[in-house]
Amino acid sequence: MNYKDYIRVIPDFPQPGISFKDITTLLQDGEVYRRVIQDLAERFKDLHIDCIAGPEARGFVIGAPLAVALGVGFVPIRKSGKLPGETIEADYALEYGKDKLAMHKDAIKPGQKVLIADDLLATGGTIATSINLVKQLGGEVVGAAFLIELLELNGKEKLGGIDIFSLVQYN
Ligand code: 5GP
Repeated sequence: MNYKDYIRVIPDFPQPGISFKDITTLLQDGEVYRRVIQDLAERFKDLHIDCIAGPEARGFVIGAPLAVALGVGFVPIRKSGKLPGETIEADYALEYGKDKLAMHKDAIKPGQKVLIADDLLATGGTIATSINLVKQLGGEVVGAAFLIELLELNGKEKLGGIDIFSLVQYN
């Protein structure tokens, strides 16, 4: 199955020059969505992870069903001010714009093996910040799972040698 057939590319969104990979068209097809999660679960099932952490909002769409498929818990990484409990925060820069990401202080226990999941790897800023947060909590980031990777932005270089896997790549 070629997942690219189900991803809609929208030029100049959210600003001129950005070619946005819209996954909502893929998510509408239950069978294709299920196979995406199954393929990612198959790739990471032998890493014996303790939980998955995913940044809002599309990291939830990939990370939460992947956690269920692997039989582990899911930890949300959210924009600053959204989580109700005690949090830690870190700054991050996006392909467009910047913000702060936060996690609950008790979301991960020291020594836990964490897989990070998101829909798309672009510059790597979101995931580098997510890794930083997990490490601050004492977790060990063992890998990162993506539906899509934008190769020419070299996001992998920011992620320091963890096991990175994407199902679909664009140049
Ligand atoms: P990065 O931090 O790697 O530069 O950007 C990745 C983050 O921005 C991801 O959380 C992703 O959801 C979002 N993002 C950036 N560009 C796109 C895009 O073209 N399509 C989608 N679906 N998300 C994008």
